[in-house]
Amino acid sequence: MLKKLKSECIIRFDLSTNGPLLIRDGKPSELDPTIPDIQFIRNMHNGKLEPVMPGSSIKGVFRSRVERLLYNIYECCDIFSKKNNENCKFKYDNKNDSGKDKYQKSCPACKMFGNLGLKGRVQFKDAFIKDGNYKLGKRTNVGIDRITGAAIKGALFDPEVLEDGTFECEIKMENYFRWQLKLIIYVLEEINEGYVTFGASTSRGFGNMKFSTFKIISKEYGLFKNGFYRKKECDFNKLKEILKNTKINSESIKEVELDGQAI
Ligand SMILES: [Zn+2]
Repeated sequence: MLKKLKSECIIRFDLSTNGPLLIRDGKPSELDPTIPDIQFIRNMHNGKLEPVMPGSSIKGVFRSRVERLLYNIYECCDIFSKKNNENCKFKYDNKNDSGKDKYQKSCPACKMFGNLGLKGRVQFKDAFIKDGNYKLGKRTNVGIDRITGAAIKGALFDPEVLEDGTFECEIKMENYFRWQLKLIIYVLEEINEGYVTFGASTSRGFGNMKFSTFKIISKEYGLFKNGFYRKKECDFNKLKEILKNTKINSESIKEVELDGQAI
């Protein structure tokens, strides 16, 4: 299904820290005394090693929030589950089912973000620091016993956090449905409201961020015989206005025809 590109859009926005942010490389235990320091993840950018928000990490935050937003109309699957009835990848025949079949048999979160045999409609790029300006710092935290909730004697750890910085984010959507785009909008709004947080130690108040300078550029194909496409560009408020009548309900999440879905 949908091998033909009917629509695509690129969403660009800035994500700035609003308090300490900790995105770790790998999964070291916070309480493991053999790990001296917890470092903020870095990657090469313009010839320099700089803090990065991996696309997979941003995607994970968006996916889990979308699952929660949809909870009242559809209980999405657990992509980590090995049980047949809990994970969409067991609902279809990966070898023999068509892309359309796989799409229809998958839950709304998998329809958007993909699963093992289904390509998602939304891709998240690694986000790098804007203009090379950032400030890293150290926070001393006390280890908390997970069972009793009490502080563990001597279990101090000093994670390196990003105190200040703005990341340039980019989301690309291909052959997207309007309800999917509207969910992205909801998640962005919830970031600014403080409901959506990023990285580790969010229970300690880390990971609050603010989004700004939003722009969407969309292209719609197949409308004209001469091969031209329709291009639109708008800001956040204009996009909200365009999607005002788009419903997210048990009917819309089942849609499979893309006609008229672009903005
Ligand atoms: Zn699923």
